[in-house]
Amino acid sequence: MAIRRICKYGEKILEKKTKKVNFDEVKKDLPALLADMYETMDLVAGAGLSANQVGLDMRLAIILIHRDGEPSLKITIINPELVERSGTLSAEEGCLSFPGLFAKVRRSAKVKVRALNEKGLPIEINAEGIFARALQHEMDHLDGVVFTDRLPLLSRLKLKPVLMRLKRRWKKMDETKLSPKRRALS
Ligand SMILES: [Zn+2]
Repeated sequence: MAIRRICKYGEKILEKKTKKVNFDEVKKDLPALLADMYETMDLVAGAGLSANQVGLDMRLAIILIHRDGEPSLKITIINPELVERSGTLSAEEGCLSFPGLFAKVRRSAKVKVRALNEKGLPIEINAEGIFARALQHEMDHLDGVVFTDRLPLLSRLKLKPVLMRLKRRWKKMDETKLSPKRRALS
C-alpha cells in the first residue's frame, strides 16, 4: 500500500469530467488502487475521495462515514449515476482538495444512486444525511465539479481572492511526505 498525493484546488484534473470505468480492464489493478485510496483518505481523516483527486481519470470514488468516532460505513462506487433526489439541506462541508476550508453547501437531502461495487456488482444505494451529502460531493468530483462551485455567486466572488492565496500554499502540499508522527496523530 502507498499514500498518494491528493490533487488540490487549481489542478486541472479536478475540473474535468472523469472517464467511465471498464471494470474488466481495471479489476486486476483495482484492489491495490483502492487500498492506496483508503490509506490516503485515512491519513488525512477524510470522509470521501474520488479517483481524480489522486490524479486518476476514472469514474470511481470511495466513502467512509464515521459515527461516534468509529468507521460505520465504507463503500466503493464505480460509474455511479444519480437516479433520484429529494428535499434540500444546507450543511457545512470540507474537501481534501481544499485543506482547512469549510463552507455551507446546499444539497439534496435524500438520493438514490446506482453504481458498481469493488467486485463489479451492481448496487443501488438509498442515502440520506451525511451519507447522501458525501455521495453528491464525490459524484460532483467525478463530473469535474468542486464544492465551492455549489456556493451562491456572492460567496464565490468573496472566496475568490482567498482561494487564489491558498492555492499557492496547497500546491506545495504533498501527503506522501507527511511524517509518521503526523500520521499517527491523524
Ligand atoms: Zn472533495
